[in-house]
Amino acid sequence: MIRLNENYLKLKSSYLFADIAKRVAAFQQQYPDREIIKLGIGDVTRALPKVCIKAFHKAVDEMANDATFRGYGPDQGYGFLREKVAEHDFGARGAGIDADEVFISDGAKCDTGNFQELFSNDITIALPDPVYPVYVDTNVMAGRTENFTNGRYQGLVYLDGTKANGFVPGVPDVHVDLVYLCYPNNPTGAVATKAQLGQWVDYARREKALILFDAAYAAFIRDESLPQSIFEIEGAREVAVEFRSYSKTAGFTGTRCAYTVVPKNCMIYDAAGKAHPLHQFWNRRHTTKFNGVSYPVQRAAEAIYLGDGPRQVREITNFYMSNATMIRGRLTELGYACTGGTNAPYIWIDAKMDSWEFFDLLLHGAGVVCTPGAGFGKCGEGYVRISAFNNPKQVSVALDRIAGALRGHAPQPAGDATPSVN
Ligand SMILES: *Cc1c(COP(=O)(O)O)cnc(C)c1O
Repeated sequence: MIRLNENYLKLKSSYLFADIAKRVAAFQQQYPDREIIKLGIGDVTRALPKVCIKAFHKAVDEMANDATFRGYGPDQGYGFLREKVAEHDFGARGAGIDADEVFISDGAKCDTGNFQELFSNDITIALPDPVYPVYVDTNVMAGRTENFTNGRYQGLVYLDGTKANGFVPGVPDVHVDLVYLCYPNNPTGAVATKAQLGQWVDYARREKALILFDAAYAAFIRDESLPQSIFEIEGAREVAVEFRSYSKTAGFTGTRCAYTVVPKNCMIYDAAGKAHPLHQFWNRRHTTKFNGVSYPVQRAAEAIYLGDGPRQVREITNFYMSNATMIRGRLTELGYACTGGTNAPYIWIDAKMDSWEFFDLLLHGAGVVCTPGAGFGKCGEGYVRISAFNNPKQVSVALDRIAGALRGHAPQPAGDATPSVN
């Protein structure tokens, strides 16, 4: 009899996006003439930068010729990309990372989800709330939690994100072995200062813990005093792993390319307390289960660092950040307290009512779709996330309609907006 890994039965089905889709579909059926604008999506809307397309095409042409064709590449990624990552994303910011500490992959979702395979099953894990669900669910699947009761998995240490701590929870006053951090944050848009990350690095060194740092949104940081990488913090190399992705940075959500940095002096301990370099185990896992990212995709990613690449990428992130500024400004003007939107493409809004109630108010009153914060954890209740991944015209129309709805005005008449792009 084929038996199930019953940890899968513990998973609380993530109904969030299905629930949203259901409510939107019901609304659309009831009011077929109303145009809906989606500000709930965590996906990019702009095309790949021109430099990437050019490099992509060139690499595809190389595949068409026996002399330049490439078969299996290195599992960890081609040297040309790993070297550029080390130099531009870390070296240029004073963080010493070697090319062979960079593992190219097909996504930060897979990497953040897979990394937990390297850990013993009885470790204690701290996670922020609200949270990117991948960190939680992959540990549930692995059997590191008890059941889901009262909105939380028993056996995890939740780090409460609140208005009081600006959604940057501090270190816990208990011991944990592993902590997930994500800055700039999805869903709250909050960012951590060097001092705040420094406290985590100190904590991890003291407790012999490991930090898994998700920096998928590093490219959206505009305040130059903020760290873009945890490796800008002294001592972090010994206690941290960092995940990055080209998905939001350069529109690679459908193209797929990301990387994970595991410093060679970052240690993990066996049951006897003996230290081992973590790098060798991620290398072993990666080479056993992964066969590399396609050559043209790695060439497309490399183009981001060359010639006009940095400018083109900056232009795209600026485009989204100007939407973010517009959203944050308008909601603030309407009297809503906002987190994020200044160094992140998400704006986290204190709804001053139940998350889903506010969602319905925006849907029915404005024809605008947002994401209820309750879907990201207990601490997300009473908040909604608005995404800046859209075009400015849509955002502007959406904000006008939101202003109307929130002032208690009648919903806008149909047919006054540009059609939704997604
Ligand atoms: C979008 C996102 C990622 C990127 O995932 P990919 O698999 O690289 O597309 C990683 N972490 C967070 C928090 C994200 O929102």
